[in-house]
Amino acid sequence: MQQNLLHIHLIATVKEEDCRVANDKHTYQVLIVGGGPAGIATAITLHAKGIRCCVVEAHTTPIRKSGEAIPPNAKPLLKQLGILSLVEDEKHNVYYGNKSCWGSDQLEQKEFISDRLGHGYLLDRLYFETQLQEVYQHTNCPFYKGFKLKKVISDKKEVIATIENDSETLTLKSQFIIDATGRKASVCRHLGIQKENLDAQFAITFNVKLSNEIPHEIIVEATENGWWYVAPFTKKEVTMMFFTLKELLPAKENTAIFLQHELQQTIHLSKIIKNIPIEHCKIMPAGTSCLQIPFGKNWLAVGDAAYSFDPISSYGITSALASGFYGGHAVADFLHGKQEALDVYRYVVENAFQAYIQKLIAHYELEKRWEQSYYWTNRLAVFNSEIPS
Ligand SMILES: Cc1cc2nc3c(=O)[nH]c(=O)nc-3n(C[C@H](O)[C@H](O)[C@H](O)COP(=O)(O)OP(=O)(O)OC[C@H]3O[C@@H](n4cnc5c(N)ncnc54)[C@H](O)[C@@H]3O)c2cc1C
Repeated sequence: MQQNLLHIHLIATVKEEDCRVANDKHTYQVLIVGGGPAGIATAITLHAKGIRCCVVEAHTTPIRKSGEAIPPNAKPLLKQLGILSLVEDEKHNVYYGNKSCWGSDQLEQKEFISDRLGHGYLLDRLYFETQLQEVYQHTNCPFYKGFKLKKVISDKKEVIATIENDSETLTLKSQFIIDATGRKASVCRHLGIQKENLDAQFAITFNVKLSNEIPHEIIVEATENGWWYVAPFTKKEVTMMFFTLKELLPAKENTAIFLQHELQQTIHLSKIIKNIPIEHCKIMPAGTSCLQIPFGKNWLAVGDAAYSFDPISSYGITSALASGFYGGHAVADFLHGKQEALDVYRYVVENAFQAYIQKLIAHYELEKRWEQSYYWTNRLAVFNSEIPS
């Protein structure tokens, strides 16, 4: 476990054809659906353990995703996965924490919730996704890029998945399937397994080109109805997100007016980001959700598919990589006959999730300026009544 997995897969002699079971072109030991951080971490771990696997990813090239901060305590994991050098690339920035107006009227430098081991990183997320996929491609294991999962059938013996792109439909067979499809948990949905939402937080997101350059950092500011998150996209473009509860979301046609109003309520952001057009807004779920159990007879979920985190925590990417690493080890051990390996995975990820919830509650409890408002009264109510045991 102390070995450097990147090193292992670079020297490994497993070739593409060896990743498949002999004589059957599309048959593998493990099929991973999703080529984001969780899927790729699982794939490079399984490959290093000598498991024949493949990755199916819906997009032909990485797409823009929300989330760019990596906390300092992720570094040992990145090292273990052999990908620390990726985040040290000059396209990413060393990072100590967000500027935050939360719990008081001051805009302060806030260290990450877990502030051990020095600095973290502010990623060029699109570039990071590309780097991760390149690492996997070095293993020479098959990468079905541009293929979307359409159907999964799981019986006692095997998993049969149908995937398709614009021009072909393929049937893949495997002993085991990994759900690394992100928040939607598509594999689980196909298998009839539901994720539980522990709250109803949503993000309204949009990008803005600025006329002035602003510091390359994330700014968080709480308001009466939720909180703002502004992250650099390019030197003069930022991604802006307003987080609120489902009940407070405006009607679609009122979104821009609602956001202009919310921006005006801020003490600091409204001075930093002025006179901006608000258009092309997207609304997406951005709360905490989890599976009751993150594995079944011949499937296991990693990353957001298993546990989705509130973006205030900056936990998502690290947790996706960690669950890919531990999930990969667990599945490899399971396929080598260790029946208890999947329970060990569950124990590790459930404990990490419980610790996250405690820290999340403590963080939201710091904000006491609007104790009568709907958002701040209801933000934690669901957690307190619905934390899974
Ligand atoms: C607003 C917001 C801000 C955030 N900020 C941060 C932050 O600062 N720090 C942080 O660590 N995290 C942050 N996150 C969370 C972080 O981005 C996610 O936790 C992380 O991307 C999870 O990785 P994943 O691999 O599990 O899923 P994803 O990155 O979502 O990858 C899933 C992949 O599966 C593919 N896929 C989906 N369905 C199918 C299908 N049917 N067939 C084939 N492929 C499929 C998708 O194309 C995708 O590439 C934020 C999230 C949000 C919403």
